[in-house]
Amino acid sequence: MNPKNLSPKQLSFYTALALAAPVTVLLYIVDQRWVFSLIAFAVLLIGGYFLISFVLDNFIYRKIKLIYKFIYQTKATKREETYYKYILPKKSIGEVTEDVEAWAQENQKQMEQLRANEQFRREFLQNLSHEFKTPIFTIQSYVDTLLQDEPESPELRRKFLEKTSRNVERLTALLNDLDEISSLERGEIVLVKTNFVVQDLLKDTFESISIKAESKNISFSIKKGYETSISVNADKEKIRQVVLNLFENAIKYGKHNGIIKAGIYRTDDKRILIEISDDGVGIEEKSLPRIFERFYRTDIGRSMDATGSGLGLAISKHIIEAHGQTIHIRSTQDVGTTVGFTLRAKKD
Ligand code: ADP
Repeated sequence: MNPKNLSPKQLSFYTALALAAPVTVLLYIVDQRWVFSLIAFAVLLIGGYFLISFVLDNFIYRKIKLIYKFIYQTKATKREETYYKYILPKKSIGEVTEDVEAWAQENQKQMEQLRANEQFRREFLQNLSHEFKTPIFTIQSYVDTLLQDEPESPELRRKFLEKTSRNVERLTALLNDLDEISSLERGEIVLVKTNFVVQDLLKDTFESISIKAESKNISFSIKKGYETSISVNADKEKIRQVVLNLFENAIKYGKHNGIIKAGIYRTDDKRILIEISDDGVGIEEKSLPRIFERFYRTDIGRSMDATGSGLGLAISKHIIEAHGQTIHIRSTQDVGTTVGFTLRAKKD
């Protein structure tokens, strides 16, 4: 019998018994009247039981009840609170300890979550100001130069204005990305699903940025054997945004004269896997687990493209997850990168 697992009533009974038994034996030894000893035993047992029970209830369990109230006020529903109010008197000290320990653990978890959120918020603000700082300072320096020592040559003036305009564009793109990601994170995304052919979307999207690809002489093709049309059911415009971001990355971080390839696979009856591969600079292994975090950029990425925000992959992940699907990345430095995502196959 573990004394820790005794309920208050049992505890009172055993304590009263432990008191009554030796006293009765002592009385019998002194007095030798067994009837009197028996009556004394009954009185001591019953009286002791009620007295100890009263003391336990009023001085110990009342305090424990207070602790429970505090615990469940913060985390239990009203129903649970009432339940514990009536169940508690039947609980043993051991069970009470377990409950409090469970509450403490839960609390600890919440505290850790809060701390992580706080850290996340701090990093987010830091990243945000960092991303805004560069274009704003650049704009400021060009405008100041134009105002103070207005360049003689119209070409130079035009060049400065063009650079200013490019940085304004970058700021606008950054704000649009931020707007997009915050509405995605608030769960405000409304998907308008239709059936469409993956191969057509891939070709159209690449076509729309062919100028960028041509500037680096990068070509695009669908892998051999995957040209036959495959239809999916998804929000076409949102998926176009994902594909566009993947193509833009493959070009930005791709080598001159590189090749981008797409593979379209039927993984099962319900899912289609789309993979976009490049033979560019790749991503070092230590960066891969963080690549879908917002604002995260690799050092090589930063050096190759100063205009990126590090939000593209985070937005893509949100869009794919809003479809109830998954996105993943595989990459080897100096070999290339493959980003794959799944979509629901066309409903028949
Ligand atoms: P952005 O390209 O605007 O910086 P993304 O979220 O699209 O933002 O990408 C995050 C980072 O991941 C990039 O800055 C780059 O460092 C890395 N990255 C993404 N795609 C590729 C790729 N195809 N090849 C190499 N690095 C990539």
